[in-house]
Amino acid sequence: MDFLITVLGCNSAIPAQGRHPSAQVIDLLDKRYLIDAGEGAQLQFSRYRKSPMKVSAIFISHLHGDHIFGLPGLLTTLNLLGRTGPLQIFGPMGLEDMMKTFLGYAGVNELSYEVRFHTVTSPSKSLIYQDERALVYSFPLDHKVPTFGYLIEEKMKYFNLNREALERYHIPKEDRARLAEGADWVSQEGVLIPNASLTLPKRPPRRYAYCSDTRYFPEIIPWIRGADLLYHEATYLHEMVDKAHQRFHSTALQAGQIAAAAGVKKLLLGHFSSKYKDLTSLEEEARGPFPNAYAAVEGETYKL
Ligand SMILES: [Zn+2]
Repeated sequence: MDFLITVLGCNSAIPAQGRHPSAQVIDLLDKRYLIDAGEGAQLQFSRYRKSPMKVSAIFISHLHGDHIFGLPGLLTTLNLLGRTGPLQIFGPMGLEDMMKTFLGYAGVNELSYEVRFHTVTSPSKSLIYQDERALVYSFPLDHKVPTFGYLIEEKMKYFNLNREALERYHIPKEDRARLAEGADWVSQEGVLIPNASLTLPKRPPRRYAYCSDTRYFPEIIPWIRGADLLYHEATYLHEMVDKAHQRFHSTALQAGQIAAAAGVKKLLLGHFSSKYKDLTSLEEEARGPFPNAYAAVEGETYKL
């Protein structure tokens, strides 16, 4: 099952150096989600040939413009395209009011589809959304306004069957689908064979953690521990650590330190200050504490 992260934008504040503000498309088999919707998000969708019509849920980290100015445009376009399926939007307090006011003044009082807003308030890691493919958790970050990180975990729905055990117990073919769903099996003689004897242990679910924007915030370490991929903001190089702290952002070194302490498999840096054209120095800095670190590239799809 594919688990893909496509970066639509990875710059901070001002679109610059050919980079757009924050937005990412997550594809998990047949499900599509969007994290953040910076200005130009809908143009980036079409540039990288992703249909926004397929998005079933949007997760907004915080209400700063570089994370949401693309949202009203996207919602309006979905309306013009005649979307009918419901759309769930998660974000901090104020997002619903902000969008409704914005669209109201723009003369869009009704959309062709239902939008269900959910206010995220999590004081620590909590499950906020699930469907057939994914579980999504939110957790607080340390930023100037209420900000949340998101952890997307694939839902491990089915067990793999243990072929050898199926033969041994002579399990009929028609009963096997139920075993994959976790059921035990009872023979005609009434003997119960527990599911664990007929299936193989599930592999650990793949997990993607998104942390932007935030100051260096070690509290997140247990919440993102062991993630397959961590996207962590790295607005500045560490020589600007004081400015980073003042502006509630992190440095590349700090992103590397968080990745190392959380034992994640791979680190993707993002939310770059527009002052950096070349991002190799940020990569190199993060690789000090955590060698498997890369600067996010717009348009690139990262596979988990
Ligand atoms: Zn921000």
